[in-house]
Amino acid sequence: MNFTVNELCKSKTATRKGINNTPTPKVKENLEKLIKNVLQPLRDKFGEPIIVDSGYRCPKLNTAVGGAKTSQHLYGQAADIRTVSDTVTDNKRLFDTAKKMIDDKEIIVGQLINEYNYNWVHISIPDERHKNQIIAIK
Ligand SMILES: [Zn+2]
Repeated sequence: MNFTVNELCKSKTATRKGINNTPTPKVKENLEKLIKNVLQPLRDKFGEPIIVDSGYRCPKLNTAVGGAKTSQHLYGQAADIRTVSDTVTDNKRLFDTAKKMIDDKEIIVGQLINEYNYNWVHISIPDERHKNQIIAIK
């Protein structure tokens, strides 16, 4: 296992602002699903480390970072990820790997989002509102 629930709750903003970003049991359950069903299979296929910049965000933290009010991050269902080099080329490779896995039915996601020309990749588990949506935010 490369990913931990703990790592998906870490936040520099939360630390700086003294926000307690401890997950509820339900959130923890979602984070475990996110790791098991999406992040770990993607990591194994990609074959390189994946950095998580943001996972779970409690309401206070979500507001502090300007997250959407209905964001899946609020439920521990989403992660913002990138490559170690953090270049457009490598982040696009990560996105394309996830996209191919969705196309090949190796993973089922809620959303896969190319955020601001591969600045980072948002990926989530499915819920009532999201299933295998592949989009770009510019
Ligand atoms: Zn996100």
